[in-house]
Amino acid sequence: MNSPLVTNVSNTLTDSFGRTVTSLRISITNRCNYDCIYCHHEGDTSSRGEMSVETISNIVHAASKMGVNKVKFSGGEPLIRKDFEDILSSLPKLRDVSATTNGTLLKGRAQDLKDAGLDRVNISLDSLDPKNYKFITNSSQNMLDGVLDGVHSAVDAGLTPVKLNMVLLKGINDNEIYDMLDFTRTYDGQVILQLIELMDFNDVSQYQIDANSVEKDLTARADEVRIRTMHRRKKYIIDGAEVELVRPVDNSEFCANCNRLRVTADGKLKPCLLVNDNLIDVNGMSLEKMPQMLKLAASQRVPYCRN
Ligand code: SAM
Repeated sequence: MNSPLVTNVSNTLTDSFGRTVTSLRISITNRCNYDCIYCHHEGDTSSRGEMSVETISNIVHAASKMGVNKVKFSGGEPLIRKDFEDILSSLPKLRDVSATTNGTLLKGRAQDLKDAGLDRVNISLDSLDPKNYKFITNSSQNMLDGVLDGVHSAVDAGLTPVKLNMVLLKGINDNEIYDMLDFTRTYDGQVILQLIELMDFNDVSQYQIDANSVEKDLTARADEVRIRTMHRRKKYIIDGAEVELVRPVDNSEFCANCNRLRVTADGKLKPCLLVNDNLIDVNGMSLEKMPQMLKLAASQRVPYCRN
């Protein structure tokens, strides 16, 4: 896979705001078996096209020579792709390869994914209450038990730490934070809770929580608070369990510390989740041409929210 041309490109992907891209978030399909009430679809609903394994591999191989050491796969639901293991096996060595999944298809596949090169997973789990879960995911059947099996399988396969992504929704699941934290405690540090502030994509502002008050409450209960470089996220240690709060909304610190470049399912480099007029099509592009396109995309990154 390595071509001399790519090997010679030593430049990093730094934008004009001094932010260097070190991580890719790659959507590999827009297909999903859920229709969550708030879903942002990774900022892309336009296309049903999907990149081949080769295109994905070319993007990651080129990016890895330019300072990218982390890749997260998303969707749609990434596990809907039957060739997800082939995608994983085609990647170069990286520091961190993860996926965000709704967990419905994890049971029975977690070990294969681990063997193919997946390091860890984020599993979206907004509620432990079957009625709430069904409402949020907008699904005809209730698949909560299957998702809980998926969490077990992921831990068993060593896809750890498993992060549970819980989007906070006022009046729906905002009273479940500490139940969810109790649930993570049963896994002895192998499962971490990640609380996510709702971004209003689908006219769901009525569910917006007050993130300041959640933060205040977590701080009051925490034995320790740490700050991650990625997006300046805060991590709280409460009675031995770890909970992180992701605050993407109107947060200039979040954008100032963003080191991520996105790729849409149909193969477009996407500098920001919230911007759609600067996408760069690399679908089917050769490895040799990829560095140039990655540089162009990085140069177009502008913090969405600035002071
Ligand atoms: N189907 C996969 C899953 O459920 O993880 C991957 C796609 S989903 C779009 C990726 C993550 O984005 C999920 O954790 C989801 O909760 C989060 N997400 C989606 N829409 C969001 C929104 N409007 N605000 C905040 N987070 C959102």
